[in-house]
Amino acid sequence: MGKSHFQSPRGTRDIVSPESDYIKFLVDTFAEHLSTAAYGQIVSPIFEDVGVFQRIGENTEIVSKEMFDFYDKDVKDPQHLALRPELTASICRAFAQHRPITPWKVWYSGPQFRYEKPQAGRYRQFLQVGAEVLGTSDPGADIEIISLAWAFFQRIGLRNTQLLINSLGDPESRNRYNDELAKYLDDRKQELSEQSIVTLKTNPLRVLDSKREKDQEVIDEAPVMESFLNEESAQHFKEVKDGLEVLGVPFKISPRLVRGLDYYTRTTFEFISPSLDTAQNAIGGGGRYDGLVEALGGPETEGIGFAVGIDRTLLACEAEKVVFDLDIGTDVFVVDTTGGREALLLSHELRQLAIKTDRSFGGRSMKGQMKAADRSGARYAIIIGTDELEENQVTLRDLRGEGQQTLVPRDMIGKNLLTILQEK
Ligand code: AMP
Repeated sequence: MGKSHFQSPRGTRDIVSPESDYIKFLVDTFAEHLSTAAYGQIVSPIFEDVGVFQRIGENTEIVSKEMFDFYDKDVKDPQHLALRPELTASICRAFAQHRPITPWKVWYSGPQFRYEKPQAGRYRQFLQVGAEVLGTSDPGADIEIISLAWAFFQRIGLRNTQLLINSLGDPESRNRYNDELAKYLDDRKQELSEQSIVTLKTNPLRVLDSKREKDQEVIDEAPVMESFLNEESAQHFKEVKDGLEVLGVPFKISPRLVRGLDYYTRTTFEFISPSLDTAQNAIGGGGRYDGLVEALGGPETEGIGFAVGIDRTLLACEAEKVVFDLDIGTDVFVVDTTGGREALLLSHELRQLAIKTDRSFGGRSMKGQMKAADRSGARYAIIIGTDELEENQVTLRDLRGEGQQTLVPRDMIGKNLLTILQEK
């Protein structure tokens, strides 16, 4: 076969079965999980006015460098749009637009787009699920959000997940810390990597995010946020930690966890899968963003949420050899050597009974159809030959074990199969 002229764009991929089945399972499990905590689904547009994302912070990399943006076709007044790089900003925009009753608890699932350098576990289109609570600053909401994310990883079978938490304080504490940190980093500038010197000018906090070896010593000795928290922020952080302890959710305090987005205040957290390659081992994260709704033109509204990277979660499941018990196979394969009309009718009938049914196309020989039946992984074959057709019967053949065969009246086969399959 020659190479196709077109390839999927860089950083994107075609996900097919069984990986797509696993992904569907993860998303369905997430939906079910969040519904047990009274979160409703929100489906918002995949693209928004670029300004929505710019409110995340002009210095945030996903905004300044990684946005897929474009203009619509309005000749007079083209709108500058962008594919969403994450969903929190869209949800805050939706909140500001519709002003729902608070607390507003929503979950989502969908693709996100970032113009990143593709590598294992890092794509330009990737799938996230997540949840947000808007309209309360109660530390209970922080605890609910973090424990829901934790319980999701547990529920799908991951056992080697670490939760890191930190507090960035309210804007006042954060600004004081930021100034102190900027001074400290500036003093030790010579020891930093070139990239971090550039980052330092625009966003000192982000220097703490650097994974470059050269920066590590300076980062390790940097002042920590916790000692800059004012009383209110420190109390909030304490209540979050106490709540997680009460629930038995294990966590580690990571004093330099700042995360990529500029809008975070107070609680921030990240879920790490040590089973994954170190550079891409974050499988989820989130935090508080009191102030984002306001920045989007809404009323003063607190919010907290998390996002889980489904592609990476699946990689972690593979690394931990999590087995998904999914019912995705074919139940029965219809083999028709009388011309195809019988296969057409019977497949239609069985599918209406929710029996997973497949068949061949193209008038293949008995041998060819039996081969296809074996390859399909189906548990049973139903064979309709001229003799069976004349007698108004079908042959039911067990494709595993001894290959037992029985003759079944044509009008009983659906009912019989249902009974047999329910017993399995
Ligand atoms: P963030 O919105 O950056 O906090 O990301 C939340 C989660 O989404 C991360 O923990 C990753 O699991 C996942 N994620 C972020 N960026 C990518 C990407 N480029 N490719 C795949 N997964 C990603």
